[in-house]
Amino acid sequence: MKLHGKVALVTGASRGIGRAIAIALAKEGAFVAVNYVSNPSAAQEVVQLIEAAGSQAVAIQADISDLDAVEKMVASAIKIKGGIDILVNNAGVWRGGKLHKLEPADWDKVLDANLKGMLACTRAVLPAMLTKGSGKIINISSVIGIVGYPGDTVYGTSKAGIFGFTKSLAKEVAKMGINVNAVAPGIISTDMNSALDMATRSRLIKSIPMGALGKPEDVAEVVCFLACGASYVTGQVWTVDGGYTMMS
Ligand code: NAP
Repeated sequence: MKLHGKVALVTGASRGIGRAIAIALAKEGAFVAVNYVSNPSAAQEVVQLIEAAGSQAVAIQADISDLDAVEKMVASAIKIKGGIDILVNNAGVWRGGKLHKLEPADWDKVLDANLKGMLACTRAVLPAMLTKGSGKIINISSVIGIVGYPGDTVYGTSKAGIFGFTKSLAKEVAKMGINVNAVAPGIISTDMNSALDMATRSRLIKSIPMGALGKPEDVAEVVCFLACGASYVTGQVWTVDGGYTMMS
């Protein structure tokens, strides 16, 4: 178990990709703080699954777009185990629609969670990592931030912003023992895209060289690799997309 004695905070870990990441890190022995915003029973289920497998976890409610709530969440996670070694900025929201038809309130929802939330969580966790002289920060972006998609202008803006954040922060803390990387999933079967109609779903599947949507566990595997070692890897974007963004 490569993460025995380590503490991980995974935002948005009650469902989907975050849930798979929390479980994968716990399997490697990490104590996991399972963040959620509105779904306590789902978060508690993740904690129970982790405990049943012999590791430890705690569910912590916080809206990551609320700076005070983030500070409190990080303080309570640090209080329980004395630090945070791994931060996975996973929580995110999606609002689709043509730019001229989307309400600015929808932009705010997306940018506040996907960008401001990531900034807030990282800012809150960094002092403990800097004091310790080590840490792993892994930011979940999306292939939409790389290749774009019609109707995803705002979401794509937020996900492309994660790359700039990852690279600048990676350079800022490179000499301080902290690795910062981004993971860009392709289309993964979760609640986020459960509303896709069958025609769109099969059109998307045809555009994936591997011919299938991804699973949350496919993303978790790469996150786990970055969290467990990969100490000479920083400022990179890891696509997990069945070849969707591959250049021909
Ligand atoms: P999901 O199934 O919709 O789950 C979202 C998770 O984020 C839930 O745990 C939710 O908590 C939490 N969350 C949402 N807003 C939050 C907030 N303001 N504060 C704290 N937690 C919040 O999403 P997913 O598909 O697993 O996506 C996870 C990440 O991967 C997102 O950043 C997403 O953009 C990215 N991604 C997803 C796909 C895909 O195809 N699914 C592709 C590329 C990238 P509650 O359960 O409490 O609501």
